[in-house]
Amino acid sequence: MIHPHLFAVTAFIQLRLLDIVDILLVAILLYYLYKLIRGTGALNIFLGIISIYIFWWLVRIFEMELLTEILGQFISVGVLALIVVFQPEIRKFLLILGTRSFLSKKTKRFFGRFWHFEQSTRLAISDIVNACEELSSSKTGALIVLTMENNLDVFQETGEMIDARMSRQLLENIFFKNSPLHDGAVIISENRIKAARCVLPVSESTHFPAYLGLRHRAAVGVTEQSDALAIVVSEQTGRISWVKNGQMKRNIKPVELKEILVKEFSSEIDKKVK
Ligand code: ATP
Ligand code: MG
Repeated sequence: MIHPHLFAVTAFIQLRLLDIVDILLVAILLYYLYKLIRGTGALNIFLGIISIYIFWWLVRIFEMELLTEILGQFISVGVLALIVVFQPEIRKFLLILGTRSFLSKKTKRFFGRFWHFEQSTRLAISDIVNACEELSSSKTGALIVLTMENNLDVFQETGEMIDARMSRQLLENIFFKNSPLHDGAVIISENRIKAARCVLPVSESTHFPAYLGLRHRAAVGVTEQSDALAIVVSEQTGRISWVKNGQMKRNIKPVELKEILVKEFSSEIDKKVK
């Protein structure tokens, strides 16, 4: 027979464990929420809402009837207001959540080896590098986004859908100054040019060199909001830049770009097999 004290202690510990899980889950959720809206105006709105909530919570504890009543009314419609205010962020979040495939691309690539579809989906790195070299020497502005795990449909929708197999000529052609598609970004996924003329979110980072314009800011912006990688060719200087996780590496040579791309796109598995 279980001693009643022991029973109480186990119940107590169980409750504590669940509490910890609860708090952990909320913390993780808040962290992802913060990651999603960091660098956007939404962060300020979010902080505003949190402070109203904390204030409401405090006046309730101190039993200040009138304020509790007024703030309570405000908070009861709060969920609806949240959905309206954060509509773009919620959309993005659900899109990313819903399209994150169960199997990562690396796993797919590994299994793809046995079904021989690996060849078609592997990124043609030299095509990209050669195109960038050409665009750089002719001082043609370009912004190329390479998709990793996150799905970039939201940004693709802002442009023209192409969905053609990647090739050097096609890339150069798109960014050619007189081409109707040269403006905005090209999004590449699974070695296919998915879309051109895409409008990307512009980074709102405050420590950004003033001489870099919107093209560079957009390249940083897209890598802040997803795990995508971006390459920029400057129209003004012809310089090639590389962006990952919101960090820009400026003025790199085509050979360096090639090295970086090879490193990014050859998984550990590939290295072992070779
Ligand atoms: P460059 O060195 O090539 O001049 P920059 O960083 O100075 O680049 P801007 O001159 O401000 O950039 O912008 C040039 C081009 O960048 C625009 O014509 C447009 O094609 C592209 N661009 C600007 N904003 C965005 C955006 N939000 N998303 C995608 N492309 C953009
Ligand atoms: Mg400029």
